[in-house]
Amino acid sequence: MIEIVFLGTGSGVPTPVRNHAAIWLRYEGDSMLFDCGEGTQRQIFKARLNFMKIDRIFITHWHADHWAGLISLLLTMNLENRRRPLHVYGPEADRFVSDILDLGYWGTKFKVVATPVPYEGDEITTLVRTNDFSVTTIPVEHSVPAVAYCLKEHDTRNVDIKKASKLYGLKQGPMVGKLKEKGKIILKGKEITLDDVSILKKGKKVVYSGDTRSCENVIKLAQDADVLIHDTTFAEEMEDRMHTGAKEAAQIAKKACAKQLILTHFSRRYTDLSELEKEAKKVFRNSVAAKDFMKLLV
Ligand SMILES: [Zn+2]
Repeated sequence: MIEIVFLGTGSGVPTPVRNHAAIWLRYEGDSMLFDCGEGTQRQIFKARLNFMKIDRIFITHWHADHWAGLISLLLTMNLENRRRPLHVYGPEADRFVSDILDLGYWGTKFKVVATPVPYEGDEITTLVRTNDFSVTTIPVEHSVPAVAYCLKEHDTRNVDIKKASKLYGLKQGPMVGKLKEKGKIILKGKEITLDDVSILKKGKKVVYSGDTRSCENVIKLAQDADVLIHDTTFAEEMEDRMHTGAKEAAQIAKKACAKQLILTHFSRRYTDLSELEKEAKKVFRNSVAAKDFMKLLV
């Protein structure tokens, strides 16, 4: 189960009800942040989440509305005696993290490990791979180097014991474990393959576009995603062509065959988001405008 909490759904200028960009994502014991705009730590407190549990922060790009909260969050972690290393990912993350740590009179008592993320081309890159999930990334199109991220739970295979028993006489026991581990076993002289007697359980997939104009790479990364969280700064893509409109975000969700579209990163001009939601729904029915502190279980 993936838990998502929207901590900030505003864009360049926050509003009384919309903070700068930040999304909390939890998979079992792993908590992570995607973007960390100014004020994120107070949003974390308000959402009653524990910032000390965050081990990875993924920054989509280094516009201040997506990272300015890092300074204060690192400072608080320091004051609370964090000792575990913290990993920060992003385009040119090494340079920016080192600059941030050089600011002012402070030093962290824990290691901040910066991992630069590729921001050119159309390749999907794996950044994290645990026993349960992976985090991958792809470049997107913004006015500065920017990327999208994807958290995907691994696919698993569950042995259909009735079928295995009927076809091969395989009973519940250590041999089933061996079959799951090795992919095939020999039983009574017959080879049994896992594909033959199991059902595929697709892992859940969540994709976050960051700031981007509508872009093919997001469609590639978001293929069959359970949730696509997409930049929707305006109702329609504006002449600056640096952000996506609600309509275009919905077209991307549709092309990617995503199951659900969550719109975020709204311009302050919208006090009522129903107009944006309506625009998106015309193209992709399962579209929802995010609100600060909205929670989602995938
Ligand atoms: Zn932004």
